[in-house]
Amino acid sequence: MRQVRDFLHHFAKTEIRPISRQADQAHEVPMAFLTKVKALGISMEPIPRSVGGAGEGVGEEVDRKRVRQTNRIAVVAAEEMAWGDAAVIITLPGPGLGGPPVAATGTAEQKERLFSVFTAPEPKWGAYALTEPEAGSDAAGIQMTAAKTKGGYILNGTKTFITNGARAEWIVTFATVDRTLGRSGQRAFIVERGQAGLEPGRIFDKLGLRASETSEFSLVDAFVPEHNLLGGEAYYQERQAKGFRVAMATFDSTRPLVAAMAVGIARAALEEARERLTQNGALSLATPLAGATRARLGQMAVDLAMARALVLRAAAMADAQQPNAKMASMSKAFSGQVAMAICRQAMDLVGSVGALGDSLLEKWYRDIKVFDIFEGTGQIQRIVISRRLFEEAGA
Ligand SMILES: Cc1cc2nc3c(=O)[nH]c(=O)nc-3n(C[C@H](O)[C@H](O)[C@H](O)COP(=O)(O)OP(=O)(O)OC[C@H]3O[C@@H](n4cnc5c(N)ncnc54)[C@H](O)[C@@H]3O)c2cc1C
Repeated sequence: MRQVRDFLHHFAKTEIRPISRQADQAHEVPMAFLTKVKALGISMEPIPRSVGGAGEGVGEEVDRKRVRQTNRIAVVAAEEMAWGDAAVIITLPGPGLGGPPVAATGTAEQKERLFSVFTAPEPKWGAYALTEPEAGSDAAGIQMTAAKTKGGYILNGTKTFITNGARAEWIVTFATVDRTLGRSGQRAFIVERGQAGLEPGRIFDKLGLRASETSEFSLVDAFVPEHNLLGGEAYYQERQAKGFRVAMATFDSTRPLVAAMAVGIARAALEEARERLTQNGALSLATPLAGATRARLGQMAVDLAMARALVLRAAAMADAQQPNAKMASMSKAFSGQVAMAICRQAMDLVGSVGALGDSLLEKWYRDIKVFDIFEGTGQIQRIVISRRLFEEAGA
């Protein structure tokens, strides 16, 4: 674990940080960097070894000790790399948010076909499309339809705010076979690049994470063959509400990762504030407000450590194969709030220089907001947590 942390910290410091400002201004991560990362085999998601990747795949025979640490290693890696730049690491080649549902529910043929895309020498991406213009937090209310037809389904509707959607080779796309069935009517489909009826939409100009591509797309009478129904027909016939479970299960593994990224950004902001305050003498005991400033930095460090502890707890539970949905939501809810507060306070403490372009503080202040929005907003996490409390109490 320490080796992973040290290696990735060095990588973040020497390779990611130096391109952070430029990528933010250009609204894209340089292709030369992505190609280099690809060649080095650095990715946020494990590609199964069975298809030529370096990571653990579902059902693979692997070193048990490594498997037991997979989630903790992933959150440690996410924190270190986000310390470098979160938008850059969200853009690293790989299956992205599409990886977990394929790994968890795809058929053997689908896993082989979809993951082997990433063994190509050039950078490739996958994506995950749940959100719609009228269905964000209310994921059960998606309107994209999937009508059964001979040999497959006809999909119609629009997806929005999709990370790496415009560059993806395939997108795990959620649609409903019957809106009146709510959650149990949902299915996950693989929409491939070049799909007939796939109409690309806007690429968004965002407040933060500007180097990360976020876009929308529509499907207009798009025929998706049966072999691209994730998990196959049998999977959905087993249990009625499985379609929605596919969508939600993804979050149990990705929420701690997102929380870890927020911790990485907040840590970067705290360190930057400490350095600038040291340089400008604000921490010198001869300065009247030094005590108050030091106390604020101390509290920020406590909050950061608490956020990291929750993230590691959620990851450790996943490694131990314990249900971690509540802890995953706790880590996400807490980190999102605390990391925003730390970035804001770091800006407060250093004063106006923090808002200038020669400091990354103003960028982290912009970047951090979305960590309380995507993968379920803070409010939604708290609702999920309270629902679990009632379930545990048998209410
Ligand atoms: C940069 C970025 C990348 C993204 N990437 C992806 C992606 O790859 N794939 C994908 O599918 N989606 C993605 N999203 C979408 C993201 O998951 C949604 O934005 C998020 O779920 C919130 O939905 P919404 O924006 O429609 O807000 P809304 O759901 O409209 O919420 C608006 C406000 O109301 C609150 N609210 C909503 N319902 C309740 C409730 N029941 N009780 C209390 N408060 C409530 C929310 O907390 C929020 O504060 C991305 C978003 C962003 C910004």
